[in-house]
Amino acid sequence: MQTIRHSEQTLRAALISKNPVLVSQYEKLGAAERRLMNEAFRPASDLFEPITLHSQSDWITSHPEPPQDFEEFFNDPSRKTPSPEKHSIYIQCIGSLGNTRVISEEYIKWLKGYCEAFFYGLTVKLLEPVPVTATKCSFRVNDNTQNLQIHAGHILKFLKKKKPEDAFCIVGITMIDLYPRNSWNFVFGQASLTDGVGIFSFARYGSDFYSSSYEGKAKAFQKKSSSDYSVFDDYYIPAVTSVLLLRSCKTLTHEIGHIFGLRHCQWLACLMQGSNHLEEADRRPLHLCPICLRKLQCAIGFNIIERYKALVRWIDDDSADTPRVTPKHSREDNVNLPKPVEAFKEWKEWIIKCLAVAQKSEPSYRSN
Ligand SMILES: [Zn+2]
Ligand SMILES: [Zn+2]
Repeated sequence: MQTIRHSEQTLRAALISKNPVLVSQYEKLGAAERRLMNEAFRPASDLFEPITLHSQSDWITSHPEPPQDFEEFFNDPSRKTPSPEKHSIYIQCIGSLGNTRVISEEYIKWLKGYCEAFFYGLTVKLLEPVPVTATKCSFRVNDNTQNLQIHAGHILKFLKKKKPEDAFCIVGITMIDLYPRNSWNFVFGQASLTDGVGIFSFARYGSDFYSSSYEGKAKAFQKKSSSDYSVFDDYYIPAVTSVLLLRSCKTLTHEIGHIFGLRHCQWLACLMQGSNHLEEADRRPLHLCPICLRKLQCAIGFNIIERYKALVRWIDDDSADTPRVTPKHSREDNVNLPKPVEAFKEWKEWIIKCLAVAQKSEPSYRSN
């Protein structure tokens, strides 16, 4: 295992920069916000850790990219910023996300709530879910894993056409696996930064995708025609566990981060680190390092402390998002589905530590 440890000076310059205009902008931030962000280069800080590389197949080793500090982000002429007219993140669900309508609806509301806290200050809107057939995308059965896959580029075209006027971006989410072109095995997601459009699949985030008993194998499937989408009816969807919710929140915020112009982070352990495989994605934290946090704050204009509090509120609110009315139609409606937030507990503890550092008080929450 290798650690990428930058000097205090390097991290300070990456965060604050040496450009007098950006330095003065930094100094105008609230004392609490600066106290927190300065943890990036405080040697004894345990909030922000260096990046660790576990193998040659990790992202940084296999995809060398130039690092992006705050100043480079700030000066990037191609990056997109929300405006009062384009202030909403739209989420379009493609196919079902859960095994029942209730699970599907609740799950997408949890993701919406999470994005609203993460991109604090922007509005997140849900578009009416559509079946795969509505997208008119190509599809296939993967030769290795035997599961159904839909063509990511075709979905992007579909989403681009559906992008509402007030959208900063539109992101599609699906439980069907994706492929970018015939010669590729699969892709977790694909985005067009210039169009502000992205599609991401959570198919491989279920606990069973890589197991031999995976139920999404469509071996017997014979494609009748390119427009026969009936194979997607009742297709296997993994159970929505806390880990699946965590992985999908992580992917969604990482990918939307790219749409804001944040490139892969090479400074500290951070949500914006690239990941080459699921194991590496799981190691990546849910939080942004101060350098990436300053980039996002610069794009959206939130108060960092308020944003952290909103994230804690989302974790604490583990009840169903909408109170259930008395069921009229089916027994299914009677299910009260609590948000499975067990996997977020460690992160909550971390945010509370951050708030304590920022507000210079003792942590009010301690783990045993
Ligand atoms: Zn990425
Ligand atoms: Zn970062």
